[in-house]
Amino acid sequence: MRVGRKEFLRLSGLSLLALAGKKVVNAITSAAQANKPATRPAKRWAMVIDIKRCLQEQGCTLCINACNQVHNVPRFQDRRHEVKWIWKEAFQHVFPPDGAEYMVAELPGAPLPVFCNHCDNPPCVRVCPTQATWRREDGIVMMDWHRCIGCRYCVAGCPYGSRSFNWVDPRPHIARLTPDFPTRAKGVVEKCTLCPERLAEGRPPACVEACKPKAMVFGDLEDPASEVRGLLNTRYAIRRKPELGTRPQVYYLV
Ligand code: SF4
Repeated sequence: MRVGRKEFLRLSGLSLLALAGKKVVNAITSAAQANKPATRPAKRWAMVIDIKRCLQEQGCTLCINACNQVHNVPRFQDRRHEVKWIWKEAFQHVFPPDGAEYMVAELPGAPLPVFCNHCDNPPCVRVCPTQATWRREDGIVMMDWHRCIGCRYCVAGCPYGSRSFNWVDPRPHIARLTPDFPTRAKGVVEKCTLCPERLAEGRPPACVEACKPKAMVFGDLEDPASEVRGLLNTRYAIRRKPELGTRPQVYYLV
């Protein structure tokens, strides 16, 4: 394939950008890319959200604030540029009415936290042409922002709207910079990665740590003694759009 001068310069620029950021990426993804969380290995990470507990604190945004702060998620006034890792959606948008119309009366309209479902069969990974997104052995669907070419196939492929595209440079829109986490650039996609950098240090994801009513429980689905397994054994749980076959690994207890 012949590459014109303009295209060559564009590709060279992208390569230089990638090299410049490599050091930072290495720091954050060394444990992640090796598929070896250092101190808390799990066979299959999963999140369980207890809706009733979450609704005890309506209007609470502790999980969102913690995630945004830790990961340098920008805030835009213009909603067209919005970048979201974790946010709240009304119950009927998270779980469309055709399976939930007769559910508990207080659920319609109730705000639920939503984020990447770290699907077992993630369509976003299948459509990425550069392997900038991939699924680790422990189930986390990762992102390498320096490999992302901004094609947005993953955004189109995700049926949950869990991915955001940086239409403009996000850096001037970060409220308070966390220096040890990389910022992203205009033209790349980002999303929740379940805090692999914290897991590598034996810490839970930032949202889980920040959740006061302890509505978010994180753990190893393959461990029969884990709290997530205990909850799923004893409570009824639903997942988003199970009919699509993506096999989300975020469970909502109703
Ligand atoms: Fe991919 Fe969307 Fe599933 Fe996350 S929720 S793994 S972005 S398809």
